[in-house]
Amino acid sequence: MHLIIAEKNLSAARIAQILAGRERVAQKKDGPISVYTFGATAVVGLKGHVVEVDFVEGYADWRSEERTPRSLIEAPTTKVPTEKKIISTIQRLARQASDVIIATDFDTEGELIGKETFDLVRQVNRTVPILRARFSAITPQEITAAFRTPTELDFALAAAGEARQVIDLVWGASLTRFISLAAKRGGKNILSVGRVQSPTLAMIVDREKEIEEFSPQKYWLLSLTTEKAGEVFSARHEVARFDDRALAEAAKARTRPPLSVKEVKEGEKVERPPAPFDTTGFLVAAGRLGFSAPNAMRVAEDLYMNGFISYPRTDNTVYPPSLNLDGVLRTVEQTEFGEHALWVRGHRRASPTRGKKTSTDHPPIHPTGAGRREVLGDERWRIYELVVRRFLATLSPDARWSTVKVSLDAGGEPYVATGARLAEPGWRKVYPYSRSEDNLLPSLSPGETLPLKDVLLEEKETQPPPRYTQSRLIQRMEDLGLGTKSTRHEVIAKLLQRRYVEGNPLRPTLVGRAVIESLERHAATITQPDMTRTLEADMQEIKQKKQTREGVVSESRQMLHRVFDELEAHGQEIGKEIMGSTEEERTIGPCPACGGDLRIRQMGPGGQFIGCSRYPECDFNLNLPSPQWGKAVKTAEVCREHALSHVRLVRKGARPWDIGCPLCSHISSNREALLLVPHINDDILGRLAAKHIYTVTDLSRMSPESLADAAAVSAEDAKRLLAGASDVLLLLRRRSELRKFVRAHLPPKRGRSQSGITRILYSHGINDIRGLAAADPSLLTGAGMKESEAELLQQEARALCGDRALREAGIPAASLKRYREASIAKPEDFCFLHPAYLSTRTGLSLETVYRHVEMVCKTMGVKPPARISKAALEEGRGALLAIPGMDEKLLEKLYRAGVVTPHALRTAEAPALAAATGIPVETVRQLMAAASRGERHNRSAGKG
Ligand SMILES: [Zn+2]
Ligand SMILES: [Zn+2]
Repeated sequence: MHLIIAEKNLSAARIAQILAGRERVAQKKDGPISVYTFGATAVVGLKGHVVEVDFVEGYADWRSEERTPRSLIEAPTTKVPTEKKIISTIQRLARQASDVIIATDFDTEGELIGKETFDLVRQVNRTVPILRARFSAITPQEITAAFRTPTELDFALAAAGEARQVIDLVWGASLTRFISLAAKRGGKNILSVGRVQSPTLAMIVDREKEIEEFSPQKYWLLSLTTEKAGEVFSARHEVARFDDRALAEAAKARTRPPLSVKEVKEGEKVERPPAPFDTTGFLVAAGRLGFSAPNAMRVAEDLYMNGFISYPRTDNTVYPPSLNLDGVLRTVEQTEFGEHALWVRGHRRASPTRGKKTSTDHPPIHPTGAGRREVLGDERWRIYELVVRRFLATLSPDARWSTVKVSLDAGGEPYVATGARLAEPGWRKVYPYSRSEDNLLPSLSPGETLPLKDVLLEEKETQPPPRYTQSRLIQRMEDLGLGTKSTRHEVIAKLLQRRYVEGNPLRPTLVGRAVIESLERHAATITQPDMTRTLEADMQEIKQKKQTREGVVSESRQMLHRVFDELEAHGQEIGKEIMGSTEEERTIGPCPACGGDLRIRQMGPGGQFIGCSRYPECDFNLNLPSPQWGKAVKTAEVCREHALSHVRLVRKGARPWDIGCPLCSHISSNREALLLVPHINDDILGRLAAKHIYTVTDLSRMSPESLADAAAVSAEDAKRLLAGASDVLLLLRRRSELRKFVRAHLPPKRGRSQSGITRILYSHGINDIRGLAAADPSLLTGAGMKESEAELLQQEARALCGDRALREAGIPAASLKRYREASIAKPEDFCFLHPAYLSTRTGLSLETVYRHVEMVCKTMGVKPPARISKAALEEGRGALLAIPGMDEKLLEKLYRAGVVTPHALRTAEAPALAAATGIPVETVRQLMAAASRGERHNRSAGKG
C-alpha cells in the first residue's frame, strides 16, 4: 500500500481526489480520523503538529525551590504527543506501507511537521522508503507534478523549525515564570513574556510614548484661488510651509493683482504596477480592505486548502520561471474577471513586475482556481478578488499621468499650481484599490493674466506619528527581522488575547505598558529586536547548513543566561513596579461618597463589582454583570460628570461589551425602577443622587428623617415614599424571579430577546410567576412565544405555583414529595379529590391526609370535607369490594369521585359518576344495580 500523509484532513481529501483521477475515492473512518483510499493508495491528514515540544517531567511546579525559572534554560526538552488518535492511525497504516510520501505544506513549519511524521513512521517501520512531495497549490497540475517526482525531506529546513520551537519554549517559559512570580501573578493573570512578543509589544508602547510626548509645532500654509472660464482652481505659495507667522502674513500682504502666468510645464508621470504579493504585502493590502491580519490569514489559508489560491505563506515577490503565467490567466478567464484577463492578455507588459525579495520555496500568492462569488461567500470572495486583481495588475502596463506645473506671480510673490490627469489607466483598470483622482487645471499659457479671487492663510499643527495598525506593525516587524511570515500575525493575535494591547490601531493597555517599561529599565535586551534578529539569522543559517541546530540552541541559552543576570539583580523592583501599575489598572476614579479610590474587584470566578478603597469605612459599591459576560477592565475614556474611567467587559472570542461610565450606567439602569415609586419625580431623584442614593434599595434603607432631609420633603411625604419604595422592592423581586423563570424555561432563539419578552409581560401587568400561570395565553403568544412554548411555560409556572402554595399551606416537604409522585400537585386537588383517594394513592394515613386537606382548604378559602372515620372507611371499603364486578382499580376511581360507601354509590347519578370517575356509564349502572341488590339482600336478611 502507498501511504500519503498530508498536513490537514481537508488537504488529504483534495489530494486523494486529484490523484485518484476518475477512480472513486472511498472515505473510511478510523475513529475520528478519515482515511481516503483509491486503488492501492491511502491518504490521511494530520492536524498540523501532532506532537509538541515540552520540558521533561518535573518542571511543572512554578514555586519549586531548586527548579527556579532560570533552571528552565538548561532543562531538557522532549516531544509529547498531542493527537494520540491520529498518531495511532498513522502508525497502524505505516506498518503495512510499501512506501510513504509526506505531503505537508511547503515551508519551514510544513517541513518540521514532515520531520515529526518521519520520526513517527520510523518508530514502527525502520525500512519503508519515505519521500516528500512539495507543491505550492492544491491544484491538479501542481499535485500531479509533485507526486510524479517526489524528493527527500529537507532535514536542515526541519532542524531550523525545531530550533525555533525549542528556543521559543525556553525563552517564553523561563521569562514568563520569572516576571509573573516577581509581580505575584498566577493562574489566568500570568504575565507572558516572549522572544518575539516582547520586542513587538515594546514597539507599540514606545510609539504610544512618542505620541504622548509629542509637542505639536504650528506652521502656516499660504494659497490663492483664481479662475479661468468658470473653472476655479488654487495655487500654493512657493514656500510650501511657513514656520514663522510674521513671514507668512507679510507674504500674504504682498500677494496682490495682477496675477500672471509665468510658465507652464507639461510632463508625464509613469506609475508602475505593484509587485506580486508576498505574505506581508498581502496582509497590508487586506488590512486596507478592513481585514485584521489573523483574519486575512485564516481566509487565505482556507482559499489555499480549497485550491483557489497558492500557498499564502511566502517571502517571495518574484514569479519564478516555472510558474505558468498564461495558465493562471486562463484560470482567471473563467471567472467574472474574464474581461479583465482578456484585456491583460492583449496589453501584457514585457515582463511582470517584481519585488525586492526572491526566495525559492514558494511563488508569490496568485490565483490557482476559478472562484465564484456565490460559492465563496462575501469574506472569502473579497480576499480572492484581491489576489486575482493583484495578479492581473502585475502583468498590466504602467499607468500614465499627464502632469502640468504652472508658475504664477502675484505682485512679486511666487505661486505654483499643479495638475494631473490619468492619461492611460494601465494597471489601475484592473486594480482599483488605491486612489487615483484627477486634478485638472484649465489650459493656460504664459503671459496670461488671471483674476485674484482670494488669498488664504491657514494655521496648521504638526501631527504625532500614528499608532500602528496591525498591517503596518507586521511590515515594521519584517523590517526589523522580528518573527517570520508565518508567525508575525500570530504574535499580534497573542498580544491582543493577553490584553497587552487593544484596538486597531493598536494601543498598549496599562499592564502591557507596565511590563515593557519595567523590562526596559532593568533588562532592556528582552525588549530590543537585536537579539531576536540575531537568532532569526542563525536559524536561516541552519537552513543553509552553515550552523547546526544544537549550536544555535546553545547560543540562545547563553543569551538567555545573560538576560537572567540582569533580571535576577532587579527581581524585586520589577515586581513592585508592575504591581504598582496594575493596581492603577484597576482604579477607575474617585469614590462619589468619600473621595477614596473606586476599584474593579474580582472575587474568584463568581463575581465582580466596583468597590471603594476605603472599605469597610465606606461601603459604596457598584454592581457589574457576572464574569460570564466578560472580565471588567477599564478603558481610556473618562466620564465627564463623574471623572470615572469607562468600563468594558472582555471575553475571549466575543465582541467586547462597553458599559461606559459604571456610575452613569448604574444610575440609568436604576432610574426606571425608582420612577415606579409613587410620588417620586425628577427633582427628588436629582436631590437623592446628590446624596449618592441611586437605587430603590438605597432609598428603602433610609430613615424617614434622613430622607425628608435629603429629598427636601415633609416627614409625611418621606414616610409615603418609603412605603412606596418597599412595595416597589417587592415588585422588583417578583419581577426578577419571573425573569429568571422565563430565562430558565424558554429556550433562547435568534431574533428574540428574553428580556424583551419579560418587558412585554410587565406592560400587561404580569409581574410574577403566579401572574404568568394565570395569564391569557394570547398575551404570551403576542410577546413572541409559539403556542406550544406558551403552553409548556404556563404548565411549568402552574406546577411551581401549586408546589409553592402547598408548601405555604404547611405541608411538609417529605409528604409533598409523596403527593407529587402520585401526580397530585395542585392545591385544587386537595379540595376536590376525596381524602380516601389521596390516602390510597400516596400511602399516607387517612388521618394525615385529612390534616393536609384541611390546611390547604383553609388557605384556599374552601370548606373542608366532613371527616369520616378510619373504621367507617374500612367498613365501606369491605362492603364496596363485596359488590359483584367490583375490583381495586374500579374502587380507586370511585374514591377519586368521593364514593366511599355502598350508600354513596347507590344514590349517585349514573352519568355524573361515570364522568367523574372515567368508568363507562354501562359499568357504573351495573355496579349501582349490584349494590342495590346487595342492600335489599342485606335488609331482607336482617328482617329474617
Ligand atoms: Zn468611598
Ligand atoms: Zn458618569
